[in-house]
Amino acid sequence: MKTLAILGSTGSIGVSTLDIVAAHPERFRVAALTAGRNLDLLEEQIRAFRPEMVAVCDDADAARLGARLGAGAPRILSGRDGLIACAAQSGAHLVVSAIVGAAGLEPTLAAIEAGIDVALANKETLVAAGEVVMGAVARRGIHLIPVDSEHSAIFQSLAGHRRDDVRRLILTASGGPFRDRSAAELARVTPADALAHPNWAMGRKITIDSATMMNKGLEVIEAHWLFDLPAEKIAVHVHPESIVHSMVEYVDGAVIAQLGIPDMKTPIALALSWPERLPLDLPPLDLCRLGRLHFSEPDTERFPCLALAYQALRTGGTAPAALNAANEVAVEAFLDGRLDFMAIPRIIAEVLDRHQPAPADSLAAVLAADAAARDAARSLINSAAGGFR
Ligand code: NAD
Ligand code: MG
Repeated sequence: MKTLAILGSTGSIGVSTLDIVAAHPERFRVAALTAGRNLDLLEEQIRAFRPEMVAVCDDADAARLGARLGAGAPRILSGRDGLIACAAQSGAHLVVSAIVGAAGLEPTLAAIEAGIDVALANKETLVAAGEVVMGAVARRGIHLIPVDSEHSAIFQSLAGHRRDDVRRLILTASGGPFRDRSAAELARVTPADALAHPNWAMGRKITIDSATMMNKGLEVIEAHWLFDLPAEKIAVHVHPESIVHSMVEYVDGAVIAQLGIPDMKTPIALALSWPERLPLDLPPLDLCRLGRLHFSEPDTERFPCLALAYQALRTGGTAPAALNAANEVAVEAFLDGRLDFMAIPRIIAEVLDRHQPAPADSLAAVLAADAAARDAARSLINSAAGGFR
């Protein structure tokens, strides 16, 4: 029986994770759950999965949840300390890191420092603090297993091969809902347009990141840290069907890929049960019915976020943390109707230009860069003279 702590249990990845747990009660037990603001769903999950510990954002929500659950309530914690306790002190064998954004960094790092294996969905953790996180992974000797479908595909495609034989990684990208829109059309898209992803049902932030292609940029940086390869050895192919989840090209020209229908349950289940595989009740991949798969180069003119992410990775140090923080602020402003879609990359580019990269070798350095980039992005968005709308 493997015990799990699920950080961000009310989100898209969290809910899919609990679906897998519910289908395999003989394999998994839930020790801890954490959520942001969705108390209704968290209450339902607590009643169904009976964790010993939970964490919510603040004391008021903790009190409200405690009152609703009455005598049978688990230990209910709150805030940053509550999250960190659920990550590091629940006794879980595996922490599923599925909070969105840099808010996931400290609890994920706490789990690693406590010597607990991590199934990582929260890519922002590696983007912002890859050096610190991978240093802790090596020092503590834990397994960091990717949940992101591209990284899970690469993880699987590397198995049984020599790292020295890798020529490059090829990440696939659906291209998002605006793959074929002109620059003029992109300037007019609304949050509702951007939230309608063609292949994947995901949380709001990653859905916007997919529409700008920043998601792929973040994934390039995530791949750099997970697989220890430089930017030049990580390519991106647009693949609208999202069937080939990513590939590894070897020095002899052989390309190993992992394919499947686009459903996050496959990579989540593998991360939960690795190195075993769990039977899943999903429709099989029917390549004959699909007939064709398409691939093309990404267009960084229309999708500048991808180029900005490569730029930040090449700059190194705290630049990716600044990129990530500026992106989080810009995406939130776009979702709130305060920023145009094409202003998202302009804000990030401006924040990166002003950012003075420092070594990203401590959590303090990363958090300082994150905070400074957030401030810079907010003031650019708020300045009427900025011309960013
Ligand atoms: P989501 O928005 O659906 O869920 C996020 C979860 O985190 C929720 O439980 C929410 O309550 C919690 N949360 C949000 N802000 C918080 C905060 N400040 N403090 C504490 N908890 C907070 O997001 P998602 O789509 O499930 O994505 C989660 C992570 O997984 C992201 O980093 C995303 O990039 C990554 N990911 C998601 C998918 C997907 O298909 N959804 C695929 C690959 C990677
Ligand atoms: Mg992905």
